[in-house]
Amino acid sequence: MDNIESAATATTRSSSLEPARFLELLGAVAVAANEASTVTQAAQACLEDVCNVTGWPVGRLYLLSKEPPYGLEPTTTWHLADTLRFDAFRKAMATIVPGAGDDISGRVLATGNAAWIANIEKEPAFTGAEEARQAGICSALAFPITAGAQVVGVLEFFGAETVEPDEPLLKVMLNIGNILGRVAEREQAEEAVAHSENRFRLLFELASDGIALYDRPGRILEVNSRMCEMLGYSREELLAMTVRDVIAPEDLAKIPLRTTEMPPGVAVVGERILVRKDGIRVPTELTARRLENGSIQTVVRDVSERKMVEEEIRQLNRDLERRVTERTTQLEQAVGELKLEIAERRRLEQQKDEFIAVASHELRTPITAIKGYVQIALREAEQSGQTRLARLLKTVNEKTNQVTRLISEMLDVSRVENNVLPLEQEEFDLRLLARDVASSAEMHAEGFSISLDLPPAPIMVYADRQRVEQVLSNLVDNAIKYAGKDQLDSRGGRRTVEVSAMTAEGEALVSVRDYGVGIPEDQQSRVFSRFFRADNVTHARYPYPGLGLGLYISHEIVDRHKGRMWLTSTEGVGSTFYFTLPLAAPDTQAVTTT
Ligand code: ADP
Repeated sequence: MDNIESAATATTRSSSLEPARFLELLGAVAVAANEASTVTQAAQACLEDVCNVTGWPVGRLYLLSKEPPYGLEPTTTWHLADTLRFDAFRKAMATIVPGAGDDISGRVLATGNAAWIANIEKEPAFTGAEEARQAGICSALAFPITAGAQVVGVLEFFGAETVEPDEPLLKVMLNIGNILGRVAEREQAEEAVAHSENRFRLLFELASDGIALYDRPGRILEVNSRMCEMLGYSREELLAMTVRDVIAPEDLAKIPLRTTEMPPGVAVVGERILVRKDGIRVPTELTARRLENGSIQTVVRDVSERKMVEEEIRQLNRDLERRVTERTTQLEQAVGELKLEIAERRRLEQQKDEFIAVASHELRTPITAIKGYVQIALREAEQSGQTRLARLLKTVNEKTNQVTRLISEMLDVSRVENNVLPLEQEEFDLRLLARDVASSAEMHAEGFSISLDLPPAPIMVYADRQRVEQVLSNLVDNAIKYAGKDQLDSRGGRRTVEVSAMTAEGEALVSVRDYGVGIPEDQQSRVFSRFFRADNVTHARYPYPGLGLGLYISHEIVDRHKGRMWLTSTEGVGSTFYFTLPLAAPDTQAVTTT
């Protein structure tokens, strides 16, 4: 009696039965277990069979819950020999949930062995004792349903007589528990399979790629919803088709279907054009694999969008390349034309420079001769007292000087343009040069006095004497030229041009001031530009002669000496032009005297 948990109060009768009845019972249970698809169905049949054979009027089933804490749960599977008689008792017992070790079923769960109460009357703690008494129930027996070593449920029976189970009965009941345990195992396994199948079906259905299964001849066996959506056919329609029906004929002609050549398990990756039900071609990428059972599984991805984007990119690239080629050709053409133009311009510039050089040389020679003759004639006229002739000759001499200056300016401009204005720098006293320029100007300009403001100490500069003379003469000549034709000097006497030179902030500073027509304010910034002439001198009643080159050249000369040139002017009041020059080294300044 090793397997038995007996109540302390166990008494009296054993439940001995004929061995043939036991065999009959086991056979019946085995058949029921075989036919039932759930443990509940099998247990129902079993409760009836056991009650019939043993004469126990009531039997019930407890099953182990599938959720934590995995205790016994009452079921609705009962057998009552007499529904009316035992109904109150069933109701009292129906909701009992025995913890492990409680009541007889709890003890069975805790130990894995059968348990019984031979006489309920002697067990006052028994739940439903009063209802049991009223229904004439005296004893209770419980047996485990076991799957492997695990208790998965309990069969509980109630007898109308006090019962003491014997060894053969216990063995039979344990066998029955094992048979039912198998059914429970089978049910669990089926549930697990169904569960996992469900999971896989869900994965299959929700996959974002189309999946199809087909056999070797190409007959479609299964498809997921994405596949149906991609091809526009229903699942039923596709299951009646072959893969050849959905591959574009031209694609099939190019790459025939070789299902039989596929080695099992190896993934074959490729591209196919499929045809939708509405005839639209769908470019796809697919991975096919032959399964163990010979069927082929293929996973299909619709790449229409990607192909479209790729084609758009290719088209954009082609457009871009075409435009780049066009643009390059245009640019090459433009560069070619520009090169030709530059070459042509250079050629013309060169021709112009050559012409100016030759022309000025050719002009200067006869002018020098004219000047010579005029000087001689002037001397003779003065000596012979022909004042009128002498005055005329002086004017001729002045005009000849003007022509010489214009020719020089033209030559200089051409030199500046071609960057060939060489400087021959030396040290000299700027005061002497200022005096020379002033006296020469005074000699030629009647009615003008040139006032000189010079310091007692020399202003030694390091510069090209001739070029500096040219700058200063130009400024003084302009001051005289633009003095205003019709008005007298505001002071009523001879018109004045003030020339000053000094040393300031480590430089020589020269200024030439006049009280003439001035320069309109809005045009002052342009006076050093080539060919610039202000309105007030070109639109005057008697326009002033000039080319607009003198200041341009002067500015350039000062610039080459790293000096600066600027002006202040008020129209109708007068102008002052300034320029600076670099000083000679300090020791030279000290030794030189006036
Ligand atoms: P040009 O005297 O031959 O016109 P410049 O280059 O010497 O050329 O002078 C440029 C212009 O600047 C002149 O045409 C004139 O409008 C203006 N200008 C130069 N010096 C004076 C001055 N002292 N007073 C008024 N305007 C001047």
